[in-house]
Amino acid sequence: MNLAELSSGPGCTVGLGLEGSLKKTRRISSPPPLSFCLAVLGMLTGCNGSAQPPRASRAVPVRSVRVKLLEDIKLLDVAVSGAYVITNDQNNILRRSSSGGLLKLRRADEGILVNGRLLARKSLYIKPTSFTTIQVAGQKYRGYLRMLINQHGSLLAINHVPLEPYIASVLGGELPSYFHSQAFRAQAVAARSYVLHRMLNTNRGDWDVSAGPASQVYGGLNSETDMTTRAQRKTRGQVLVYRSGGREQVLCAFYSSTCGGGTQAVWEVKKGFPHIEPLAGVKIDLCQASPYYTWEKRVWSKTDLRRALLAKLGPRNTSLARLGPIKTLQVSRWTDGKRARQVTVVDQRGRKAVVSAEQLRQALQLRSTWFRIENRPQEIWFTHGRGWGHGMGMCQFGAEKMAQLGYDYKKILATYYPGSELVRFY
Ligand SMILES: [Zn+2]
Repeated sequence: MNLAELSSGPGCTVGLGLEGSLKKTRRISSPPPLSFCLAVLGMLTGCNGSAQPPRASRAVPVRSVRVKLLEDIKLLDVAVSGAYVITNDQNNILRRSSSGGLLKLRRADEGILVNGRLLARKSLYIKPTSFTTIQVAGQKYRGYLRMLINQHGSLLAINHVPLEPYIASVLGGELPSYFHSQAFRAQAVAARSYVLHRMLNTNRGDWDVSAGPASQVYGGLNSETDMTTRAQRKTRGQVLVYRSGGREQVLCAFYSSTCGGGTQAVWEVKKGFPHIEPLAGVKIDLCQASPYYTWEKRVWSKTDLRRALLAKLGPRNTSLARLGPIKTLQVSRWTDGKRARQVTVVDQRGRKAVVSAEQLRQALQLRSTWFRIENRPQEIWFTHGRGWGHGMGMCQFGAEKMAQLGYDYKKILATYYPGSELVRFY
């Protein structure tokens, strides 16, 4: 399980036109406003809005999600529990098995070897033909597996999995099992919106999302539970959309574990991201129950810190790469008075380099960018830390608190993504 930063990796790109595909979806009626719900909180009767969302007026075909499981593979054991075929990109069958078994895949100079025999130069698919699963590195997956040598010569394992089972698995990877069913449903819609946005923007690439916290945590079949499957089914096909420039678009519904007392605008973190209301950040402080609402002082020796920054950020930041031994770190820009947006690193000769606080957070494995910096003679202290993750979009522990207070998933989503609309995409 990983509640850490989500969706800070490939990120969501901007601009997609869905005007055709969304026109005929039906709006799901809005629940009462939060102010009203807060007014009746004392009664704790719940504020569940409409009971059942209406059915979609038509189905919208959605292809499978392509999840990058592994990359830079040299050797990989893949077990198939029943009949399968191996095909090439043109769907020609290269091998057929009626009983399943173990496949030993190896990256060779000439291509991809399967059990010692060259089967493909660039790409092959392992496709179960019955209700069987594929086991990769100890994890069972639905759908099928593509092995691909990409343009950089790296062998990737990519799971092609139908979208809804993917959501059921992501819920198990993203939320603790003790969370409320309405928090699970809110997470299901957010995860579905996020991945659908990615899919609509990655058609030309080889994969849509990775399986780790840089996208959404996906563990295949092992992460599905009764709770996650129920939340997925109860919200099947539902996504968040927003209107921008007369066009309706699926929301890139970022979320993170613990905001620490308010979320931040996505464009504060991601350059060029459009200024849209649903991702402008909200001043809601509901995640005090999270163990990461505040975090302990984090101490880095200046020597180790420089080494870590150069290794992680140096290749992309030439002024940073030129720095000598570090003298100070200072927050040079803030996002909203709480979180660092930009940090200036100064070396002992007075040379400076600027890094984004989000990149610094990831390079130094800090829980969030909500911190203060204290410069000590040999060390840099990160103090007054709050939250875990990038703090954009929905706060998972805040969603859980709202659910405990009686709000349903629609109200949770409307609160953390104000101005968005919930629709049934299919
Ligand atoms: Zn929060």
